[in-house]
Amino acid sequence: MKPAVIVIGGTDSSGGAGLSRDIATLTELQCEARPVITAVTAQTDLAVHAVAPMPPDQVAQQLSSAFATGPVGAVKTGMLHSGETIVAVAEVLANAATVPLVIDPVLVSSSGTPLLDPDGIAAIRTRLLPLCTLVTPNLPEARILTGSETPEQQANALLDLGAAAVLVKGGHGDGEMSIDRLFQSNLPAAEFAAPRLNVSLRGTGCMLASAIAANLALGHPREQACSLAKDFVAHKLQQAATGA
Ligand code: PLP
Repeated sequence: MKPAVIVIGGTDSSGGAGLSRDIATLTELQCEARPVITAVTAQTDLAVHAVAPMPPDQVAQQLSSAFATGPVGAVKTGMLHSGETIVAVAEVLANAATVPLVIDPVLVSSSGTPLLDPDGIAAIRTRLLPLCTLVTPNLPEARILTGSETPEQQANALLDLGAAAVLVKGGHGDGEMSIDRLFQSNLPAAEFAAPRLNVSLRGTGCMLASAIAANLALGHPREQACSLAKDFVAHKLQQAATGA
């Protein structure tokens, strides 16, 4: 039987990011996706035109129902929209069976519109990080969540807030290689590298976190789950670059 992964996030009518990207990734990696919708966005690749949030108690009901459907191999969060929604999600997660939780701390759309309200940033720090197996910020997200500048300082701050591990993604950095660095308490940092390609593909953060969640649900240990997911995304970027 395929392991089930619950994906909690927003829809993106352009199809580039959000839940449709999550579901496509999970399907390709032989997992069953159970979607929990936090908000419906009307957007193109260039702009977010409207955001309609789901009521937080309805999000909590979707999540409880997703757990009640059958065994769950992992949970992944993306766009959570508001502090209130995060509190509702965290309450269900704290009372659910313990499964790996991967947090992609989505703060802003690829086109620059905030996708999380200011209370949400505080709620990620206090309510979600203590529950998570892994948090996957890019460099700007890590800076906003911690106020720190270097990946080491950022990771230490997020570990101090209760995250079990932190993957600081290098996609927004520079250099020939895009290097993601995995920090775990009392272990040396691990690095996952892929060539930096001159290609724009939306939803790569969603894809990476969903692929990690899929690999965890399939039974891979954390470091290997990250490495396999990095290769998966690098392959998709390569295909986009060559028009394959
Ligand atoms: N979720 C939704 C609904 C979005 O619209 C976006 C970006 O626009 C994201 C998540 C994050 O996308 P990315 O994977 O590019 O960080």
